[in-house]
Amino acid sequence: MAGQKVIRGEVIAIGDELTTGQRLDTNTQWLSQRLTELGVTVVAHTTVADDLDLNRDAFAAAAERAELVVCTGGLGPTADDLTRDALAAAAGVSLVTDAAALAHVESLYRSRGREMPPQNRRQAEFPEGATPIANLGGTAPGVDFQFGDARVFALPGVPAEMKQMWAETVGPTLYDVTKDVGVMRHHLVKCFGVGESQLEAMLPDLFTRGREPQVGITASKATITLRVTARGADEAACREAMQPTLQCVRETLGDLIYAECGPENEIELHTAVVDELAERRLTVATSEAMTGGLLGHWLAEADDDRGAFAGGVLRLPTGAAVDAAAAEQEAVALRDGGATFGVVVGAMGSVEPAQVIVAAAGPDSVESKRVILVGHPSIHRSLVSKHAINLVRQMLLGLPGGVAA
Ligand code: AMP
Ligand code: MG
Repeated sequence: MAGQKVIRGEVIAIGDELTTGQRLDTNTQWLSQRLTELGVTVVAHTTVADDLDLNRDAFAAAAERAELVVCTGGLGPTADDLTRDALAAAAGVSLVTDAAALAHVESLYRSRGREMPPQNRRQAEFPEGATPIANLGGTAPGVDFQFGDARVFALPGVPAEMKQMWAETVGPTLYDVTKDVGVMRHHLVKCFGVGESQLEAMLPDLFTRGREPQVGITASKATITLRVTARGADEAACREAMQPTLQCVRETLGDLIYAECGPENEIELHTAVVDELAERRLTVATSEAMTGGLLGHWLAEADDDRGAFAGGVLRLPTGAAVDAAAAEQEAVALRDGGATFGVVVGAMGSVEPAQVIVAAAGPDSVESKRVILVGHPSIHRSLVSKHAINLVRQMLLGLPGGVAA
């Protein structure tokens, strides 16, 4: 929706355990997903150590570029919990004790039959003008603070407490705040068979920044994902806004698309093929070298005892080169051994550039392809396995839908 109001958001994660790499910052991912669902355009993530000046600067910078800032961590009672101090410093106000929050923290200790340690008073201190957010799952109250043009929510670092506070207070509050920005939805188009830049060239104009719906492209181990993002008043409006773009993508890319899905259930190439095989009651058998058994592993996992994976062998590379004819012959033998498709991965010997042969035999055709081992060596097994299974996919496209084994 052109001209629609945009709320820019930033997520700040605070803690030495994050900046030293000892702990993965999962809060930022989770919060960004929630904010995006609400229609907030998250423009930046900041991860910062437990340092007062750095935290103050992080808040100041975030308030410059975002209207909504959500931070986690640093709300505890110890000397390295500096979020409240940093917020006050960034806004140039002092910390004041909130009587109700203090009573809450004290009562928590009393209910456990303990005296409140003096340093826990800190948890009842807030930047002047801030509103405490009750923490029903723990001691550290959150902070709701208007600072410059930004509204800042400071939540606990412990993921369970952070999520509970989001569910009980911050989420519903932001639902109201973001009501008139509508929502945002993503739709993924999964492709295999061409390079990223080749695919980009097939769809000129689609990847322009600022286009609505927005289309992004990412490549991972030869799988290319187009991410179509639309905004609208509600889910249905988003879906509708995506349609012309999706139609153009489908018309242009055709069979290069192997699946479409939402971001929460991404579909891998082998899963799409095994699902299709299982649905049509067809089977595939494999014989592979060079992949460490990855292809068979993928197929068995995706099959999940539905009977589409008829089994496979892992051959150790003997040094003997396999040519296309030999690989095709072996694929035929596998097929004739009792599967709809036989798939073979074989070593090409010491040729330059390094390459592997993949072959597949189906009900009425046999095909092979040399796969040049491009990219980082760590992706080669995936690359080869995908090319092998893609041969089956292409043959499936050519088969009438109703063929049964
Ligand atoms: P804090 O509120 O800063 O005392 O953090 C309490 C604990 O929550 C830390 O020791 C971490 O184990 C965890 N934690 C803090 N921030 C994050 C984050 N961004 N992602 C995941 N876990 C976190
Ligand atoms: Mg901390």
